[in-house]
Amino acid sequence: PPDVEQLGRATWTFLHTAAAYYPERPTPNQRANMLNLLHSLPTLYPCSHCASHLGDNLKEHPPDVSGKAALSHWLCQRHNDVNERLGKERFDCTKTDERWKDGPSD
Ligand code: FAD
Repeated sequence: PPDVEQLGRATWTFLHTAAAYYPERPTPNQRANMLNLLHSLPTLYPCSHCASHLGDNLKEHPPDVSGKAALSHWLCQRHNDVNERLGKERFDCTKTDERWKDGPSD
């Protein structure tokens, strides 16, 4: 089975970076594709218990794909929900650009 921690770090990197570079004014097609990407994760994410938690979380908190700022904030909150569930520190959601767009990455 995949290494759940490494898979998680790689997936968060992809998702937060995709959100950071998502347009502030997405076309209907871009919105639809982002929604499809997010909604596909509960069936495709290769960690079944993670995927099942995510499915419940997405139902409770539908994605906001209206623009880059809203999407980045929504995703930060979803990542914080996972952080909280795993007993990790919450991330300051005013710092998503600094971490995923403007600043140096790790
Ligand atoms: P990660 O949580 O992977 O974070 C990587 C980096 O992102 C951090 O170093 C930090 O710079 C930044 N960051 C942290 N929080 C935020 C935030 N809120 N917003 C923006 N940036 C942030 N693991 C399990 O054991 N059980 C699960 O049920 C589970 N569910 C998951 C569901 C999803 C959708 C994903 C993508 C991952 C899931 N994981 C799960 C993996 C888990 O979230 C972590 O990726 C993994 O434990 C490694 O954690 P980490 O401490 O290295 O940092």
